[in-house]
Amino acid sequence: MHTQRHVLAGSNSGTERSLVSLHYGRAGHGPKVVLQTALHADELPGMVVLHHLRQRLEALESSGQVLGEIVLIPMANPIGLDQQVMYAHLGRFELNTMENFNRYYPDLALMVGEQVGPLLTQDPDHNREVIRAAMREQLAQVQSTTELDSLRHALMRLACDADVALDLHCDFEAALHLYVEHPYLEQADALSRYLGAKAVLWAEGFGTGLCYDEALSGVWWRLAARYPSHPIPLACLSSTVELRGQTDVGGDWAIRDAQALEHYLQHIGAIAGHPPRMPAAQCEPTPLAGSQTLHAPHAGVVDYQVAVGSAVKAGDLIAWVIEPVQGQRSGVYAEVDGVLYARHILRWAHAGMDLGKVAGATAFKTGPLLSP
Ligand SMILES: [Zn+2]
Repeated sequence: MHTQRHVLAGSNSGTERSLVSLHYGRAGHGPKVVLQTALHADELPGMVVLHHLRQRLEALESSGQVLGEIVLIPMANPIGLDQQVMYAHLGRFELNTMENFNRYYPDLALMVGEQVGPLLTQDPDHNREVIRAAMREQLAQVQSTTELDSLRHALMRLACDADVALDLHCDFEAALHLYVEHPYLEQADALSRYLGAKAVLWAEGFGTGLCYDEALSGVWWRLAARYPSHPIPLACLSSTVELRGQTDVGGDWAIRDAQALEHYLQHIGAIAGHPPRMPAAQCEPTPLAGSQTLHAPHAGVVDYQVAVGSAVKAGDLIAWVIEPVQGQRSGVYAEVDGVLYARHILRWAHAGMDLGKVAGATAFKTGPLLSP
């Protein structure tokens, strides 16, 4: 293993932040896999999972069992990690710009689209390498002014040529679920099954500024659409893996998730050995456009009636919202059949607040599919 330190540009006078990546195996041998965590810096379950996984990788590497190139980024957001404000940790948005740390990644298809056109052939392997080389070249030329931009580009440089790039997050309170772009659903099946995902939410572009995973996986199907007469493979399975809720940190879950990722790495040939038989899928993928967000009808205390990960039917009571002064109590009900895969961590709701999400099978939403 070797460690790389990526100093971020744009820091304030007298400060300097850097991103650290841990590299196992050898570049150019076997599949390249990038696993990063805490891009939203207050989402910590993945930190403990990678803590367990790195110990396994160190042991495996010392016995020659790392067959691919594996990059761990154990803390992907040193800017957000520092944002402790009035005893609260605010890690989702950069305080200076209010931009979400997981939005506005570079549009790689746009960056390399012109340049790769004349170089494409009828050989998909050749095309994959041409596109990866162009992405590396273009990203190497970017000179960032701000720390936030520098962070986004550093993460892209580490992952643009990966076969698999997993971005480990969590929701407020949640069952384990994945976001993945629709063209990659087949590739994501093994990941979902080893992890035991309770929901797999797909879209083709999430429509809210390019997320990290979308930037990495989307470049391939976007270029394939631009150059339909050339075979361009779906060469980077990237997924946002929501490792349950914000307080589901460590313990047995972390050990189990690290093992599941190790089995997945075996399955794709990044490390040696035979994984255990692949578990059955715990869900069918559903469109993100079919996910119902439940809202508080008025302000009040939230009294949830359903645990995350539960199957619900349209009409089921999910929560009561109790307004204590007027004595009003209102029910919040599922409007679709599906899995309640996430709910809020707060118990005081303002009117209209998102209270939970149900993964329904039928798309009904249009426009942006993610919150800002
Ligand atoms: Zn997140």
